[in-house]
Amino acid sequence: MAATETLSRPAGRIDFDRFPRVALCHQPTPIEAMPRLSAHLGGPDLFIKRDDCTGLATGGNKTRKLEFLVGEAIAAKADMLVTQGAVQSNHVRQTAAAAAKVGMKCHVLLERRVPDRAEAYEATGNVLLDDIFGATREFRPAGLDMNAEAEAVTEKLCSEGHRPYFIPGGGSNPTGALGYANCAQEIMDQSAASGQKFDWLVMGTGSTGTQAGLVAGFHAIGHDLPVMGVSVRQPRERQMNAVHGLTNRTLEKLGAGELPLSKILVDDGYVGEGYGMPADSTLEAIHLTAQQEGVLLDPVYSAKGMAGMIGMIRQGFFKPTDKVLFLHTGGATALFAYQDQILNSRS
Ligand SMILES: *Cc1c(COP(=O)(O)O)cnc(C)c1O
Repeated sequence: MAATETLSRPAGRIDFDRFPRVALCHQPTPIEAMPRLSAHLGGPDLFIKRDDCTGLATGGNKTRKLEFLVGEAIAAKADMLVTQGAVQSNHVRQTAAAAAKVGMKCHVLLERRVPDRAEAYEATGNVLLDDIFGATREFRPAGLDMNAEAEAVTEKLCSEGHRPYFIPGGGSNPTGALGYANCAQEIMDQSAASGQKFDWLVMGTGSTGTQAGLVAGFHAIGHDLPVMGVSVRQPRERQMNAVHGLTNRTLEKLGAGELPLSKILVDDGYVGEGYGMPADSTLEAIHLTAQQEGVLLDPVYSAKGMAGMIGMIRQGFFKPTDKVLFLHTGGATALFAYQDQILNSRS
């Protein structure tokens, strides 16, 4: 009987109206087929969810998280957003734009996390846009606890009479992850409307809020579309534990139970030398996706995610009949900060 299956997991829709929220995001973002890339790889049917088209400041995945985070900041009567990220952080750029849109100030801490970058790295791409949005910034050397640094700065700003609201790196806490629980529901709505049933969802995973929100969201609405996170930074075990922790904290916020670690899927075979350092497979994914589908990926996250999907196809991981959805999390603005490496790798 189907009833046992429904009993074992909470089903239905998530009511997002109970959380403070501000509209920042173009949504639903389109789901498009990638027939040329599928044929080129001789792989399963490939699709792409265009969260690079969320609209705010050239788009990207942080915009969905910021709808709920900035919602809380407004509810707390804040007049300033404070956050942190790597120098070429897409999260910082989207936060700076969100602050401008709701009339708040924005102060950011940028970690010099990526070694040996070209001069352009600290001037162009996301850094240029942070400036245009009027964010103020300070730099930090690599390897500090950046959330602790940013919280200390938040306290200092508070003592100076500002009303700052602190957003953790990547917007990855249960509030931010709500944005991706919402995306999970959006994907299922689109799937129901189009009749396209997906077997896998693949994306790059970093600060974990995107994957955790998706896994929590699918669970809360009674679907278990497997979500494969391709690590951009950490070894598998550490990334799995981090995603798992935030998944369960997000489920708690949603009042939707909890999930075992075995539901968290991570592949760490595409990190290369580390965060912000494109591997050969990253650069190949950028060229291939651009030339087969006219879609721009970024060298830090989405191209590592795509390299993971390409690698899994080549290893025969998917069934030929599978429908695989790639989540494009944005970030192409950072391409300009990596122009030397990208030009040198052109095939
Ligand atoms: C932040 C980011 C990611 C990773 O999302 P997390 O929620 O931090 O795991 C992926 N792609 C892009 C372009 C990003 O900026």
